[in-house]
Amino acid sequence: MSLPEFKRVLLKLSGEVLMGDQQFGIDPAFVLELAKEVKAAKDSGLQICLVIGGGNIFRGMAGAAQGMDRAQADYMGMLATVMNALAMQNALEQLGVQTRVQSAVQMDQVCEPVIRRRAERHLEKGRVVIFAAGVGAPYFTTDSGAALRAAEMRCDALLKGTSVDGVYDADPKKDPAATRFETVSYDKVLADNLKVMDASAVALCRDNDIPIVVFSIREQGNLARVLAGEGVQTIVGKEG
Ligand code: UDP
Repeated sequence: MSLPEFKRVLLKLSGEVLMGDQQFGIDPAFVLELAKEVKAAKDSGLQICLVIGGGNIFRGMAGAAQGMDRAQADYMGMLATVMNALAMQNALEQLGVQTRVQSAVQMDQVCEPVIRRRAERHLEKGRVVIFAAGVGAPYFTTDSGAALRAAEMRCDALLKGTSVDGVYDADPKKDPAATRFETVSYDKVLADNLKVMDASAVALCRDNDIPIVVFSIREQGNLARVLAGEGVQTIVGKEG
């Protein structure tokens, strides 16, 4: 399966890529590099929705594992995603890319609430829209948030930029024999519990026929290569 031409995409970045080479938090220089990738994609004529995780700052599951109430910890995780969204907005605007942040947890002083029609208008005007705070509820992740926004904004694809260059049949960091899929079906991802995104996010993409493109955002220029059909990636779709 090759990639069709996209007009509007949702780019999901895991929080950890904002750390750069740090162990925690936000590396502004690296965020700027990521923003350059986003700008290049936008300058090619694409409409771009962005969702950024929060794992570089706080994950609800980690808090729960240390005895915190899960829902409380998840709200902290959602706030972390807002911080990342603001960091990315700052970097994009330093590059002259107009950007709006819409948060699923209302925070009037710092960003807009999620309003689909307003987001549509932003995209039409050439702005990048960053959706923060996932779906706005605990027990979910930003993968589900990304799938939800991709569906409601009618994106042609969900691009998942992460630290690995696709979906493997085993963990490539642990198993040297692990092989990467060129394409794989939603059903196989779910049945074999392949590490792509949460099951709920994959199911939402399957039910709405949204291809998921998994690629490494760590290599410079890779987003543009993937969009041009010249990159290394795995496409999760109906077939595979
Ligand atoms: N989170 C949540 N509901 C959502 C989205 C996120 O509760 O709809 C919380 C959850 O605790 C999660 C944290 O925010 O662990 C950070 O998001 P995520 O783990 O998806 O970030 P990533 O792994 O992509 O960096």
